[in-house]
Amino acid sequence: MANYYNENTVLWLDGKLLKASEAKIDLYSQSLHYGYAVFEGIRSYRTASGETKIFKPVEHYDRLKNSADALNIPYSHSTDQLIEATYQVLEANNLQDAYIRPVVYSPANMSFNLNTESYTVIQVWEMAPFLGEKLLRVMTSSFQRPNPKGFKIEAKASGHYVNSILASQEAKGNGYDEALLTDGNGFIAEGPGANMFFEKNGKLFTPATGNILPGITRATVLEICRENDIPVEEGQFTVDQLKTADAAFFCGTAAEVIGWASIDQYQFPKPWASTLGRKIQSAYNNLVIEKQYLPETI
Ligand code: PMP
Repeated sequence: MANYYNENTVLWLDGKLLKASEAKIDLYSQSLHYGYAVFEGIRSYRTASGETKIFKPVEHYDRLKNSADALNIPYSHSTDQLIEATYQVLEANNLQDAYIRPVVYSPANMSFNLNTESYTVIQVWEMAPFLGEKLLRVMTSSFQRPNPKGFKIEAKASGHYVNSILASQEAKGNGYDEALLTDGNGFIAEGPGANMFFEKNGKLFTPATGNILPGITRATVLEICRENDIPVEEGQFTVDQLKTADAAFFCGTAAEVIGWASIDQYQFPKPWASTLGRKIQSAYNNLVIEKQYLPETI
C-alpha cells in the first residue's frame, strides 16, 4: 500500500488541523456501512513561478457541494472556506505538488434517514506532476457504469466507486492497464476514474454527459479545444466505432491527459507524438503550472 501519511502528517477536520495518525472516524458511520459520502480529487502544483496553486479549486469545491446536495448530505462550509483550509493544510504539510482529497461523511446512523450533520475532512499527500509518457492498454469492461436512474451519476459519491474498483481490478487481472466502461445502453461512457476522448480524421469525440461524471479536466480539454480550433463532438459512440479511431486518451485530475496504446486487441495506429491528444496534453501541463503557451505552438 502507498504511504499516504506518516507521524508528521496533518489533516484538516471541520476547522481544525489534526495529526493524521490521531484523527478518528466513527465506525458506526453511515458512510462506512453504506458508502454514503461524497468526495473530491483535486491537485495542487508548484507553478512556473514557484508558488503553490490549486488547479480549479472553485470548480472542485462547487462540485463537492453539488454532490452533497444531490445526496441530501448536510454541507456546512463554503467554497471559499474550504479553499483557504486546503492551502492551510498544504502548507502545514510543506507540500506543493499534491493530491487533495476532501471527503464529506456522515455520522453514526444505521437507518436510511436524513442526518442533521456531516463531517468534512481534507487529506493531502504528495503527487509529482505526471509526464504522461506511458501509453495505456485499455480493456472494455464487463461492468457498465451505474444506471443514472438508480444513482445521482453526476455526483462524486463514494459508493459509486465500488463500480470503479470492480472494473479496474478486472482489467488489471486480465493484464491490461485500465478499464473502459460502457453505459446501460452499451455506449462508451468513461474509465473508472477518468473521462475519455478519441480522435478520428482530425476531430475529437467524447461521450456526452448523462452517464458519466462530468469531469473538470474534460471541461478543461473542451476549453483547450475551443481556444485552438480543434473540432470536438460530444455524443453517443460505440466500442466498434472506437476500434476504427486513430488515437484515444483519458483525462482526469489524477491521470491528467494520458494516451492509449490500444483498446482490447485494437492498436491505435497514429503515433502518440503526432496526435491531438499529445498537443492537448502539453497545453494542459502548461496550464496547471501556469506556464504561458502560444496557441499556435500546441
Ligand atoms: N470520471 C470518474 C468516474 C472519475 O472518478 C473522475 C475523477 N474525478 C473523472 C471522470 C474525471 O474527473 P475530473 O477531471 O474532475 O478529475
